[in-house]
Amino acid sequence: MNEYDSNRIYDVAKKINYKRTTNLSETDCYVLNTCHIREKATEKVYHDVGRIKKEFRNKKKPIVVVAGCVAQAEGEILLNRERYIDAVIGPQSYHQFNETIIKIEKNQKKVNSTNFDVIEKFDTLNSIKNTSNKTSSFLTIQEGCDKFCKFCVVPYTRGQEFSRSIEEIVRECYELVNNGSKEITLLGQNVNAYNFKGKNLSDLIFEISKIKELKRIRYTTSHPIDFNPDLIEAHQSLKKLMPLIHLPVQSGSDKILKNMNRKHNVEDYLELINKLRKAKPEIEFSSDFIIGYPGETEDDFNATLKLLKEVEFINTYSFIYSARPGTPAAKLQKTDETILKKRLTVFQKVAREIKMKYKKNLINKKSLVLFENKVGKNNEFFGRDEFSNSVIVKSHENLIGKIEEIKIIDGNQSTLFGTKKNFNKKNFAA
Ligand code: SAH
Ligand code: SF4
Repeated sequence: MNEYDSNRIYDVAKKINYKRTTNLSETDCYVLNTCHIREKATEKVYHDVGRIKKEFRNKKKPIVVVAGCVAQAEGEILLNRERYIDAVIGPQSYHQFNETIIKIEKNQKKVNSTNFDVIEKFDTLNSIKNTSNKTSSFLTIQEGCDKFCKFCVVPYTRGQEFSRSIEEIVRECYELVNNGSKEITLLGQNVNAYNFKGKNLSDLIFEISKIKELKRIRYTTSHPIDFNPDLIEAHQSLKKLMPLIHLPVQSGSDKILKNMNRKHNVEDYLELINKLRKAKPEIEFSSDFIIGYPGETEDDFNATLKLLKEVEFINTYSFIYSARPGTPAAKLQKTDETILKKRLTVFQKVAREIKMKYKKNLINKKSLVLFENKVGKNNEFFGRDEFSNSVIVKSHENLIGKIEEIKIIDGNQSTLFGTKKNFNKKNFAA
């Protein structure tokens, strides 16, 4: 979502004649767009500002803005501690970006813009063209969260659940498709909690699937308790809806799920997975895991491993629990870090083995790849298959923006290599 937000900040700033630059040493304005989901984010801001300070020691000071969830959470503290920062702008105040910059240009005092103005924000952004011209683009349809998992800072930094109107989303989809997008990933902290005047995520997906030049639709991140039958049915009937679902589970222990306030147990989760597999047998899953939530015992951890093996997630994102200031779990006793590091290593080893087995199985098979850009010097093109696996293919023909049938011939943990021709079987590099 920060990538989407950063692009929209660029679009907004064009109105006051700022343009994107890759020449960081000569920039007039730095925006550090930050994430606060795990610790060290705040230290990183001070570190980055220190780097900018050094770079500009003998030059005119650039305007320095801290945006995103660290700005929302720390606000005034950032401005007071680091004089070099001119403004903090929270995620629901990006529509005030230009006003903020103009105030700073006029040498006015520091600006703290951290109100929750999500309706106003989208009202303003809706009138500003989305200029992203990537083959695969992000589009925020929903923001915020009302679920209050005990470990999570999102409800405090992004605010309450809010859904944009279908009309505005469809309009923005057309903008992206007209700019060359072939794939759109619909974004939300709880994307399947999307609800605009009774229309849910599947209604929206059906609507945008009518856009002819849009070839692929994805959405992230969904919550298991908001996964309704309509969405399952959409996976069954809509070819444009890609068969990879990111469905964070966090833990495989009912006790921990309850303590986290996740509102579902392991059985509910597995039942949902089974329903989706029944509706669309080729479907695959990825997930997020928190290792070492306070009170997690060896048995709880083993239950998480069991779930990992049972579902065979093709991709996992796993992190040691990080206490976030202001969340209820922050008051709980943490488990010893060395134990947690060991558990994380064990978890990631099993997850890696599952992933390798899955990828090995793809060798010599056909996959449909949408190509996004050129990489390296040797006419190599990067794309993703339907399950979001990265694929690199050599070609003299420009493949960008095309969906091609590719034979996978080789691979490693992160990348598959394929060909448009039929090659002999090669070894899988482990
Ligand atoms: N809304 C989504 C997740 C959004 S946050 C859901 O409910 O599933 C993205 C991921 O960050 C989470 O899935 C979780 O695994 C991780 N995360 C959030 N807070 C965390 C914390 N305090 N410590 C470690 N990981 C955390
Ligand atoms: Fe955070 Fe997701 Fe829980 Fe909301 S549902 S509080 S975003 S983890």
